Amino acid sequence: MTQKLVLASNNAGKLREFGQILAPLGFELHAQGEFNVPEAEEPFATFVENALAKARHAARLTGLPALADDSGVCVNALGGAPGVYSARYAGEPKSDARNNAKLLADLAAHADKSAYYYCVLVFVRHADDPQPIIADGRWQGEITSEARGEGGFGYDPHFWIAALGKTVAELEAAQKNALSHRGQALRALVDKLK
Ligand code: IMP
Repeated sequence: MTQKLVLASNNAGKLREFGQILAPLGFELHAQGEFNVPEAEEPFATFVENALAKARHAARLTGLPALADDSGVCVNALGGAPGVYSARYAGEPKSDARNNAKLLADLAAHADKSAYYYCVLVFVRHADDPQPIIADGRWQGEITSEARGEGGFGYDPHFWIAALGKTVAELEAAQKNALSHRGQALRALVDKLK
């Protein structure tokens, strides 16, 4: 028997990627938009609190178990910024181009370009679940001023993986999923759900 699960996001890429991996475990994943769930606030200073708030919100409004993720890029020389503020680093409206320009400007005076992508996933059986299942993933790289590649999204054209000699935007989708913070978190979550 399949169990319906709501994803606290309307991102089609995440729905497809998460849905494929969760289907063999008996979960049928649906975007929260299918249930007219509006986006939750993400007011917190930590990834895990934001993901938990999004998961609880989706579970409360649908009556279904819910999965939420929160992610961002953390730059060491900037004390972990933009971190939870990655999507709106350069303000509203959200813009990858302006976010990347601000990141490069903020980092210009620093020699240390090291950074990591971070992702946390939270699964709740119901809105007031006292024991959410939490998994995370981290992907090390460095910020390069030269934009390369057309794939991915967000900071990917500037996120350099030295071992591959490529930016994340130059990777095939399957290769990104195999290595990424989101892929790592999802596989860790699946291990816990099993
Ligand atoms: P969210 O978790 O989908 O809200 O993503 C937060 C923000 O972090 C995105 O809007 C991007 O700016 C950044 N981000 C998270 N994951 C990635 C990634 O895999 N590549 C590039 N940027 C990312």
